[in-house]
Amino acid sequence: MSTQKGNSSRSRPQKHQNRTAFKNSLHDTSQKTKEINAIQVNNVCQRCKDIIEWKIKYKKYKPLTQPKKCVKCGEKTVKKAYHIVCDPCGQKTGICAKCGQRKDLIIASTVQQSMLQQDPEIKELLKSLPERKRRTFLRFMAKNEKEPLSENKEEILKKLEALKMDGEEHLEEFSSECSSDNE
Ligand SMILES: [Zn+2]
Ligand SMILES: [Zn+2]
Repeated sequence: MSTQKGNSSRSRPQKHQNRTAFKNSLHDTSQKTKEINAIQVNNVCQRCKDIIEWKIKYKKYKPLTQPKKCVKCGEKTVKKAYHIVCDPCGQKTGICAKCGQRKDLIIASTVQQSMLQQDPEIKELLKSLPERKRRTFLRFMAKNEKEPLSENKEEILKKLEALKMDGEEHLEEFSSECSSDNE
């Protein structure tokens, strides 16, 4: 008898084992789920990134229907759910866009990115760059993802220094070198 009262311990193995990892798009192929699944969680600390990604995975993520007020500039510029500061303010202040604490932030989620995060020298330089230049640099890095960081670190540092020192002219030159799209 499988429905025996008071006997909660299972004597037989679970009939249907979970063979594959949980996938939230298995029964839901809606555009909204697709869009939410494609969200890249950036500019937050690791802990907040984990929280938001958990919400996405288990379909607890609720996108904002209209922009929220940023706690820094007071404008309605926060477009991402669970964030308390807008992107420009987050970048200016270097705080986590979700919890508002000053921690190491996840800036973009590429493999190189995590490698960069681990290199203190590059990390420091990257932090000192204005947002626009940082993005240019990250695009450059994304393009050179195949090359191991250890081999071209010298090169990377040089680029970063040059990018930091030079004005827009160099930046444009640099952009065309590493990416064809102009943002
Ligand atoms: Zn703001
Ligand atoms: Zn945080």
